[in-house]
Amino acid sequence: MDDLISRQRAIAVADSSDYVGLSVEDCKKVTDEVVKGLKQLPSAQPEREKGKWIVYYECPKCGEITKDFTEYCPFCNADMRGEEDE
Ligand SMILES: [Zn+2]
Repeated sequence: MDDLISRQRAIAVADSSDYVGLSVEDCKKVTDEVVKGLKQLPSAQPEREKGKWIVYYECPKCGEITKDFTEYCPFCNADMRGEEDE
């Protein structure tokens, strides 16, 4: 099953192995150890920031912007309950 692991910790696992002066056979052993170490890494669940969209209302009469939906424009007092005047 695919899952998420920490790249930093995966590199640390690979880095902790010593490849210098090893025979092909020993390299295979080291690789096996690295793979074993990588398999043991716990899944990393990235934290996702929580947010909420900010909704703005723009008055078609005066062009002012408010975050609160109101029946009358807080700036020019235009009536927002009905359709726009022709
Ligand atoms: Zn207005």
